Amino acid sequence: MNTEIFSLDKIKRLSEEARNNPERFWAHKTKYIDWFKKPRTILEGKPPNDRWFVDGLLNISYNAVDRHYKTNPENVAFYWINEKGETRTISYRDLYCEVNRAAYVLKELGIKRGDSVSLLMPSIPEALYFSLAVHRLGAVLVIHYLGLSEDTLAYRLKDSKSRIMILASSSLRNGKEINIKKMFDNVLEKFNVPIEKVLVIKRGEVETTNRDLIYNDVRPKGRVYIEPEAVESNEPATIYYTSGTTGRPKGLYHSNGGYIIALNWAFDSLLGPKKGDVWWTISELGWPVWPMANLYTIPIMGLTGVLFEGYIGYQPDLFSRIVERFGVNLVWSSTTTLYTLKSLGEESINSGDVSSLRIILNTGEPLNTGARKWLREQLKDVYIADAYWMTEHLLPIAATPAGLGEIPYKEGSAGIVFPGSSFNIVDDDGNPLPPRKKGYIVLNSVNPAMAKMVNDTNNEKMTKTYWSRFPGYFYTGDYGYVDEDGYLYVVGRADDIITKEGERVGTMEIESIVANHPSVAEASAIGYTDNDGTTKILVLAVPRAGFERSERLEQDIKTFLRNSGIFVDNVILVSRLPKTKSGKIMRRLIRSIIKNEEIGDISTLDNPDILYELRNSLSKK
Ligand code: ATP
Ligand code: MG
Repeated sequence: MNTEIFSLDKIKRLSEEARNNPERFWAHKTKYIDWFKKPRTILEGKPPNDRWFVDGLLNISYNAVDRHYKTNPENVAFYWINEKGETRTISYRDLYCEVNRAAYVLKELGIKRGDSVSLLMPSIPEALYFSLAVHRLGAVLVIHYLGLSEDTLAYRLKDSKSRIMILASSSLRNGKEINIKKMFDNVLEKFNVPIEKVLVIKRGEVETTNRDLIYNDVRPKGRVYIEPEAVESNEPATIYYTSGTTGRPKGLYHSNGGYIIALNWAFDSLLGPKKGDVWWTISELGWPVWPMANLYTIPIMGLTGVLFEGYIGYQPDLFSRIVERFGVNLVWSSTTTLYTLKSLGEESINSGDVSSLRIILNTGEPLNTGARKWLREQLKDVYIADAYWMTEHLLPIAATPAGLGEIPYKEGSAGIVFPGSSFNIVDDDGNPLPPRKKGYIVLNSVNPAMAKMVNDTNNEKMTKTYWSRFPGYFYTGDYGYVDEDGYLYVVGRADDIITKEGERVGTMEIESIVANHPSVAEASAIGYTDNDGTTKILVLAVPRAGFERSERLEQDIKTFLRNSGIFVDNVILVSRLPKTKSGKIMRRLIRSIIKNEEIGDISTLDNPDILYELRNSLSKK
């Protein structure tokens, strides 16, 4: 029997079951956590007013820490490593002791259930201790990106009503020291924010004011125990902001119960983690990906995680050396990180023994076939998995769930519908489309992974933002199609779709071809209307390490595209692309520059100085 076909059928059957009876499906998934009090009902109400595991009482920190401390205290919970190769090892005993110490200090500061607490630091063990301490007290966690602009950070502190900021005084990234404390002092000086106290994890010398409390001075020396607060499933656990790729980032709540259950089901199915597995999530702290893995799955399942502080491209051999050092089995990473590995060349994979690797899971953007092919060639025995999801719906919409069984790979597709999710492809009027017809991706799933919006008591903002464009459906903002086997192809953001000569083309369809060119690391395709009213297609491409930017190469890429049946008007080589902090290409920004329009919200643009290079390169054409 062909096991791949068997898996495909099995996974589709599971999805069918979930669609027909979501309550029964999700009731079974409560097994991932230990309850203080079991839920009275699995589901009440309809989305967006749905409530899950109603009246169930639990605590995230208890599930992540106490359970494993009792059974396997010496197991390694996390390894930490930075760019310089310095490391720390944290056992479940250490995690338990440190989370309790951190919770003790937060409690002394008056933090209680429902309060909002902010975090600003790199990927260090203290980020785990404090995040889980926040959950131990039943408070709401808000993790921010390092390097958000001061006004964006101030806005988020107000929006989330954060009472306390916990920060590390500095961090090292790509060889440069970031002075976090100084940056935050500027925020406090310039903006009126609700922060009452700043708890500082001191790394080197720092200047203090009377609003600061140095954690190193107040951390209890002996053992302390803080009772985990019993929180109702639907109470908010954390606030995430979307990446800001298509517009102003949206603030979203995820719950203590449903969210954690959905995530554990998701990763159980995506990665099939086994006891003793080492799992490295390559992500900045501020992207939901970091807490999803490092707070809400790895310690809940009792696995071992790797925290990496720094930039993976700092040294070409970092990736494989870290994999070898800790015997990493599972890697979860952003699309942009995988492109970075490709641009660094074979050295990124071949500098260490990577034979422990089983799965690399992609998330964030459609993974272009060029990059996937390159990874497959370098890592023949590694399964390259994909999961398509969004901050609002943290259950994959479509995926290749290797933990449930391997399914045949199809070029350009993120996989098949994920059990518990359900989607449709619809036309402009909301009518479902048959296979192969491109349209808007909408969701009709009923599951506990759907977020609620911040400061939106009756879900009015939620309804307006997500449920009104196509009545009865949640609108993802993405464009794509399915094939006869139910594989989903996300071809781009609906806003970025290029209509040329009556044909709708997704950005990903063009970018994937460009990335197959041997000199190209990654690319971005943009459609825009020229002054004469015609649609033009521009491609920005970043050459791989060792390839120079030249007009000749630009011409060569254009010809390469033409030979694949894609006619673009211009190819421009650039040193990098404009990306959000989570590494997504901000195509809307490129389009605004071409059209000389307002550039809109760039609060999450990772490299604002790129505006200068873009204006310069684009004006020459
Ligand atoms: P904003 O909503 O603020 O514009 P964003 O949509 O980029 O930003 P996220 O929630 O971080 O914010 O990203 C979700 C989006 O990322 C999806 O809607 C989809 O466009 C894209 N995406 C994520 N994973 C994948 C994947 N594996 N394949 C294809 N697209 C993906
Ligand atoms: Mg979005």
